[in-house]
Amino acid sequence: MITVEEAQQSVLDRIERLPAEPTDILDTLGRVLAEDVVSDIDIAPFDNSAMDGYAVRAADLADAAAGHPVVLDVVDHIAAGVFPTVEVGAGQASRIMTGAPIPAGADAVVKVEDTRPGTADGGTGGTVEIGVTVPAGANLRRRGEDCRAGDVVLSAGEVITPAAVGLMAAMGRSRVAVYRRPRVAVVSTGDELVEIDELPGPGKIRNSNSYSLAAQVIAAGGEAHRLGIAKDDEAETRAILSRAPEFDIMVSTGGVSMGDFDVVKDVLTQIGELDFWKVAMRPGAPQTFGTIGGTPFFGLPGNPTSCTVGFELFVRPAIRKMAGQGALFRPRASAVLEHDVKKKSGRRYFLRGRLTPQGDGYSVGLTGSQSSALLTSMHRANCLVSLPAGETLIPGGTVVDCIRLDIEEGVQ
Ligand code: AMP
Ligand code: MG
Repeated sequence: MITVEEAQQSVLDRIERLPAEPTDILDTLGRVLAEDVVSDIDIAPFDNSAMDGYAVRAADLADAAAGHPVVLDVVDHIAAGVFPTVEVGAGQASRIMTGAPIPAGADAVVKVEDTRPGTADGGTGGTVEIGVTVPAGANLRRRGEDCRAGDVVLSAGEVITPAAVGLMAAMGRSRVAVYRRPRVAVVSTGDELVEIDELPGPGKIRNSNSYSLAAQVIAAGGEAHRLGIAKDDEAETRAILSRAPEFDIMVSTGGVSMGDFDVVKDVLTQIGELDFWKVAMRPGAPQTFGTIGGTPFFGLPGNPTSCTVGFELFVRPAIRKMAGQGALFRPRASAVLEHDVKKKSGRRYFLRGRLTPQGDGYSVGLTGSQSSALLTSMHRANCLVSLPAGETLIPGGTVVDCIRLDIEEGVQ
């Protein structure tokens, strides 16, 4: 049996980044930029006020003090969006709003809270009393302070965040090139499966894996296409698996174990190529991988948690590689085990755990029964505790390695 790392490598060797496509910026969130984005203008495009207040000449206020305010004539009232034409001369001020351009002659803004209307409420034609001094440049936002025309503001390879969307909008880019989302087909197999809006009859269960897998595809940055249920029958399984070349990846669940009706592996060897079908891990050793008509195919086990963990370890990195992401694997954390854990030798275990901040680090405890049929303990988990193949008893207090499921990548 191959190790998890060997299996992951063998998958990634088969995966290539998809082409980039011009995309509306609101659909780029979380995707990877395929071009440098250069600003067409200075941002801010002009010197402007950071405050609602009065644009002044700082020198005029040199002698101002709380008890001895300087009185300035108000010569203009400048709203945001209008370019002022009246110059501020000595002994003068212009009422100005946040974001409005600084008028010629002025070199600072005094915020309105530090002023008192003189005559005519400090409006144009009236006066304003100012009892504070300000340095030249106070409360000004300079042209080009955020970026300059010609600057590379966003670089190819970065993951688009909401702030990046805002910057692209500020640079007038409604569309940019990002790597395509992988189109991932999700296939369920099993005579026992019914659709989720049905009440399962005798011996039947709901096709829940189809939905958990589709959700994992979306969370990984792919586009999920649920193709429905194939009965445990070669012809039917072949018909649905033959659709793999319509997609970038196909994932199936069920039918890969040693059961009498497990036909997925046989069908894969008939219509495609099998790379591996068993990985030394728990839960879910019968992880199957190959290609059908060149499309990577993952035959995941049917037990809900084996399926979820298999996706996490093998399919998610593949989707991310296709999508142009640099970080293919989840961040990891070391944590102190809160209790003893027993396991069998010979296989790597991935146990459902919950990390809790503890001092400078974390502690981790299991979230309940680790039966691969149970999804509730998976739902409570925020990590997979990765335990090495050899050991059988890991005592409480041991520092263990955890795969964090609560964050995608980056600084921890
Ligand atoms: P299999 O891998 O086909 O032997 O299935 C293993 C277990 O997973 C069985 O108990 C199945 O009923 C269950 N199972 C298989 N497919 C699904 C599915 N799509 N949703 C939920 N459970 C499933
Ligand atoms: Mg089955």
